[in-house]
Amino acid sequence: MILRPEEVSSIIKQQIESYGNKEKVDDVGFVLSAGDGIARIYGLKNCMYGELLEFESGVYGMAMNLEEDNIGSVLFGEGLEVKEGTQVRRTGKPVEVPVGMELIGRVINPLGKPIDGKGPISSNQFRPIERPAPGVIDRKSVNTPLQTGIMAIDAMVPIGRGQRELIIGDRQTGKTAIAIDAIINQKGKDVICVYVSVGQKASTVVGIINTLQEFGAMDYTVVVSSTASDMSTVQYIAPYAGCAVAEEFMYNHKKDVLIVYDDLSKHAVAYRAMSLLLRRPPGREAFPGDVFYLHSRLLERSAKLSDSLGGGSITALPIIETQAGDVSAYIPTNVISITDGQIYLESQLFHSGQRPAVNVGLSVSRVGGAAQIKAMKKVAGSIRINLAQYRELVVFSQFGSDLDKATRDKLLQGERLVETLKQSLHKTLPVEEQVVILYCATNKYLMDLPIKKVRDFNQELLKYVKEKHVGILDSIRNTGNLDEAAENSLKAAIDDFKSKYNVENK
Ligand code: ATP
Ligand code: MG
Repeated sequence: MILRPEEVSSIIKQQIESYGNKEKVDDVGFVLSAGDGIARIYGLKNCMYGELLEFESGVYGMAMNLEEDNIGSVLFGEGLEVKEGTQVRRTGKPVEVPVGMELIGRVINPLGKPIDGKGPISSNQFRPIERPAPGVIDRKSVNTPLQTGIMAIDAMVPIGRGQRELIIGDRQTGKTAIAIDAIINQKGKDVICVYVSVGQKASTVVGIINTLQEFGAMDYTVVVSSTASDMSTVQYIAPYAGCAVAEEFMYNHKKDVLIVYDDLSKHAVAYRAMSLLLRRPPGREAFPGDVFYLHSRLLERSAKLSDSLGGGSITALPIIETQAGDVSAYIPTNVISITDGQIYLESQLFHSGQRPAVNVGLSVSRVGGAAQIKAMKKVAGSIRINLAQYRELVVFSQFGSDLDKATRDKLLQGERLVETLKQSLHKTLPVEEQVVILYCATNKYLMDLPIKKVRDFNQELLKYVKEKHVGILDSIRNTGNLDEAAENSLKAAIDDFKSKYNVENK
């Protein structure tokens, strides 16, 4: 960076004045130029990367560019008072957020200030927002399921505690809905949830908080909110701040944590804006070269900890918004390669009424299968392949040619499976109830029902089993297995119910 002559003379002046007073030059600097939420600072020789800086006007900043003769800092607030010549002080610590149990039920901004009007946060523990991810020795393989309560996910793309599963899709395809349902479903499961909003509309965030409150989910949830009107610097630190909050629960309280980053596309855009203002060289799609590291260092911090560290976990559900279904764009491919699988949502499915709009062919879970309960494995094992065959046959059968019985059966069965996997908003199901419904669907009990009746039948069946055969549900929940005895009584229950249902609906 080339300094202007006036700057050089003022620097020399300052150096002469503070000659022999080394401390002062090291810990106090002054602004060379400021604007667009960025300040260039002279002095602060020992400044660390990511250190919190305090400007004379009370505004805080973070050191981002450490150059030979100046420091590039981003500002966390109105920079109007930060002018050429303003003094800047090192604080000696990295940017931190308050953490701890006191945060549960609260809404904070990425700097840790409460924004829900419920008064100050009493926590006196802090954690730096950036921290290295746990190493291999500190980890254990994923072995406990994290039930989302959404059948299409728990059956086909199961998520384990400590896994990172990407939710990806175009705008308005129900991405946030899946994450919120997953949070709602953690009620009573001893999982703490953190919802991080990056660059969303404030009204959307308020809507989400209201939904969480309505379902009693704020009792175990922290919301870290940065909205579209916040500065890009604040949006940039939001996921790291949320992760620090989650880490406290995992490391020190030995808890299982679910964290949602909604969404990382906007995070990357905020980082791009910041980097360009800091004059870092742009690369593909004008993102800076380290945009992969931006997300990998964040998502690597999710883990299942080893027993010696307490066995806590952070499960991450990052969200990425694609443009016109293009998963091969820069940011989507990056995050796909970092995570342990993705749930791919499609607008076409969404608009045709299949909600949640999960595209089964493109969705995978690379580790969650190990964590699925036995009963679920048993009933859900064949769904994927059945649906794949069904989709292939649907295309083929459009030609209207005569179909043999086996093919017609496959089509009938596929239609009913698709119908069964539809699920309304915020109607999450416990795993034992999912097992009952899926057992019924995969074992062809629905074949003779008209397609319109399938969802009604499933609901009524659940009601019936809950009333009359609660022992089956208890046995699945407690043993995690659908043993022969339970399976036989389930068969009998379904047969019983079906004959009754058929008579009633004649
Ligand atoms: P954005 O791109 O704006 O963030 P999104 O992908 O997060 O959108 P949502 O906000 O979750 O999408 O959902 C979009 C709309 O679809 C919402 O109005 C929501 O109520 C509705 N919706 C989502 N999932 C379902 C569902 N399973 N059943 C019925 N409606 C749904
Ligand atoms: Mg959304």
